[in-house]
Amino acid sequence: MISQARELFYQRARMAAEWKEKGGKVIGYFNSLTPEELIWASGLMPMQILHSSGKITKSGQYLPEFLCAHLKGCLEQALNGELAYVDGVVIAHACEALRGFFGVWNRNVGIRSYFLQAPATSGKEAENYYHEELKLLWDFLGELSGQESSPERLREAIEIYNENRSLMKQFSELRKLPGSPVSGRDVISVVKAGLVIPKDVHNDLLRKLLAWFRESPPVPDGTDKLKFTLFSNTLEESDVVVQVIEELGGRVVSDNFGYGLRYCWEPIKVGSDPLRSLAGHYLKKIPCPGKYPLAQIAEELTEMAKSSGSDGIIWITEKFCDPYLFEYPFLVDRIKAEGFRMLSLEAEEAGNLPRLKMKIEAFLESLQENIV
Ligand code: SF4
Repeated sequence: MISQARELFYQRARMAAEWKEKGGKVIGYFNSLTPEELIWASGLMPMQILHSSGKITKSGQYLPEFLCAHLKGCLEQALNGELAYVDGVVIAHACEALRGFFGVWNRNVGIRSYFLQAPATSGKEAENYYHEELKLLWDFLGELSGQESSPERLREAIEIYNENRSLMKQFSELRKLPGSPVSGRDVISVVKAGLVIPKDVHNDLLRKLLAWFRESPPVPDGTDKLKFTLFSNTLEESDVVVQVIEELGGRVVSDNFGYGLRYCWEPIKVGSDPLRSLAGHYLKKIPCPGKYPLAQIAEELTEMAKSSGSDGIIWITEKFCDPYLFEYPFLVDRIKAEGFRMLSLEAEEAGNLPRLKMKIEAFLESLQENIV
């Protein structure tokens, strides 16, 4: 069942085509500040745009060398016609690179696109501002779908997405159990599937996975694996890194992916105005870097590593990713203060398997020596 979930991500163009055959439209979106609930409530299918690790050739003509590989890879896919199934795109302002990127994207990719302004903090005024921005985004989405949306539809969407958060959290917890048949890599596969299939379908998948787990509970074999928390903003490369860690006998038990634990940590609490609830939630969930006092992010992420019982932390980021690199010194200080050891990797290193294995193996051994 997990391998089916793994395949879903790579079948996204086919699934989008099926959705469109039924008269639906697909909205591609960038990063975890785009409230998918709003897209769903507008009668549209949200699909996250993620880069693949293919060669970068065409986008090099448009983007500077010093931009992250994620954005280069996304533009490359669009220029290659691989996003032909997308009817509209939402790019949320998660970092300054995205602001410049939007200009290039909008000019050179023939897909109607929208830049969602997002504040850099999460206080009351920021929430008011984001609330207004979400109203504008809702208008854009309504124009694309041609469907009437309403607060009731948004409430229903939030309900489906909250259920998804709860199921994802339950599933993510399973990787911590001794002898668990659910690995850290399995969790990444299920996270990735959730980014490209309708959330109600993802909920069904999660319910089946949880039922399967109940029927085949873990059988502890008496050996204790080294446990890790992953701090990373790149799903594709993290998939490779987690596979290597787990092949070498470790287990990734916690993560900070925008759509992993960060996403499902808390449900959205819906008040009288669901759009305002959405604005408040997206700004206050464990935030992406650049959107919060960094010391507080470091505090929350370290807490996440502690509560998962991790023995060490693996930190992976894209080269030239300013927000994550800016966060790094705060994280390192906090992590060291808690007595954690950390291995830092650049996403590109996932492309050199022998070197990656050597580094991870050395890290695992050094932890093992400390523990013995
Ligand atoms: S946050 Fe980092 S990886 Fe994401 S778009 Fe900005 S620079 Fe690129």
